[in-house]
Amino acid sequence: MKTYTNDFSWSKSRDDQFKACRRMYYFHYYGSWGGWAPDCDTRTRSLYIMKNLASIPMWVGKVVHEEAAQVLRSTGQKSPISQEPARHHLLQKLRSQWEDSKRKKFLYNPKDFPGLQAHYYDEPLDEDAFSQACAHAEACLRGLYLSRPYQRLTGTEPAKLLSIENLDFFLIGNLKVWVQLDLAWLDTHREVEIVDWKTGKERRSDETRIQLGIYALRAQQRWKRPVDEMYFWECNLFTGEEVPHRINVDSLIVTQSYIQESARQMLAMLVDPEKNAAREEDFPRSEEGRTCSGCAFKGACQ
Ligand code: SF4
Repeated sequence: MKTYTNDFSWSKSRDDQFKACRRMYYFHYYGSWGGWAPDCDTRTRSLYIMKNLASIPMWVGKVVHEEAAQVLRSTGQKSPISQEPARHHLLQKLRSQWEDSKRKKFLYNPKDFPGLQAHYYDEPLDEDAFSQACAHAEACLRGLYLSRPYQRLTGTEPAKLLSIENLDFFLIGNLKVWVQLDLAWLDTHREVEIVDWKTGKERRSDETRIQLGIYALRAQQRWKRPVDEMYFWECNLFTGEEVPHRINVDSLIVTQSYIQESARQMLAMLVDPEKNAAREEDFPRSEEGRTCSGCAFKGACQ
């Protein structure tokens, strides 16, 4: 049986958790480690289950991303997936995952059965919570078919797909940086275009610039293109807003420094950085009750 080691690496989502609450970060990257093993202790198992829980908006966003990836992959095939079958598939998936989560199947297998925080904690939900989630996902799917990326991949001179939701990494020195590009294609003018999908109602532009800088660093290494031959799009599938961005060499340097400083702060909290070893008591709890109310680990946090 393959044995895994908990090696230190960096990602934007890791940085988000680190900034939100140090204790949450500890639970996610250290306390839950090994919780998949049948012989792990009960606390590790509980933290592992909690780590895999999602809020309703996060869950809807994930299912929409998966459906969008399937639709876009099919654009280069003989029979691209049209909107009605995609809508049907999306709703079916939402329904079956919702029912499984209600029955708490995630307690036995959190990887194959996505769990919702609300179901895990038996939180009261609006009667129409599920239909609201479906309506939001359907609106995002309609947005996908109307979006510029979809039009570019299905036009008369379709662009060449480079990447859809591929989990990948690049190195900054010895630091491994994980990144998952939502979508990238090579345009007919030989320019790389990269898309960051959004599925919520709000924009977070500062965060988006960091995210796009990370995409740019990866794209530069992977496709050997200068950054001024890349175009970046922040596409909100729910609102239909499509915001173009350009990244220059200076912002790449800023992004790289941001990653290195974030990793330095994370490593500084470890009891043994060489072994990536951490102690719970070194990671303080957040002072903000607002963060705790939506936190998946609230049941483990005293
Ligand atoms: S419940 Fe609050 S303090 Fe505890 S891990 Fe979550 S956000 Fe941090």
